[in-house]
Amino acid sequence: MGRITGPVCRLCRRDGLKLFLKGSRCDTPKCAFDRRPTPPGMVQKRRSKPTDYGLHLREKQKVKHYYGVLERQFRTYFARAEKGTGNTGEVLMSLLERRLDNVVHRMGFASSRSAARQAVMHGHITVNGRRLDVPSYLVKAGDLIRVKNRSKSLQLVHAALSDSRREVPDFLSRVDGPIPEGRVDRLPAAEDVSIPVQANLIIELCSK
Ligand code: SF4
Repeated sequence: MGRITGPVCRLCRRDGLKLFLKGSRCDTPKCAFDRRPTPPGMVQKRRSKPTDYGLHLREKQKVKHYYGVLERQFRTYFARAEKGTGNTGEVLMSLLERRLDNVVHRMGFASSRSAARQAVMHGHITVNGRRLDVPSYLVKAGDLIRVKNRSKSLQLVHAALSDSRREVPDFLSRVDGPIPEGRVDRLPAAEDVSIPVQANLIIELCSK
């Protein structure tokens, strides 16, 4: 299973916006993008206007980096979105939002998507009462996401919850308690997507 490796702050600077890939650090003055919002590189050359292709590509890369998916997996989501009913761009973004690692992060159970991915892979999360260690699992309306009842899992999630400053989005609900849990109330719609994106550019690029 592939994942993005390497210095992630460069990705924010390359994509031109904060992707929140480093958890709580992203909200502190240590954020590399806040300190230097220019593209990475030793010499800051005067850059020419991006090409049409460059704009389309940047939009796709931004979304891939944000959700932590690689090209092959992204293509699978695109193929599935194309087959779905409705606006392809909206279906694509909804599929990405439905990833279990994204949902765990947006519920506040992990400080970043990569931390959520690790929490899922290490078996700290259950879905509908069953341990599920697949970060790419697509949640369904009504799914119950629960933290596993063991001290290490609870410690990890309570630490993330006490640090979390973000609100739970409308399509999810969370119940805090000794064993935190949350529910997927409905499937995510366009307004639930947490990154500013021009999905039509991605669709145009991937359709070529
Ligand atoms: Fe991006 Fe800033 Fe977080 Fe680094 S600290 S990943 S630059 S948002």
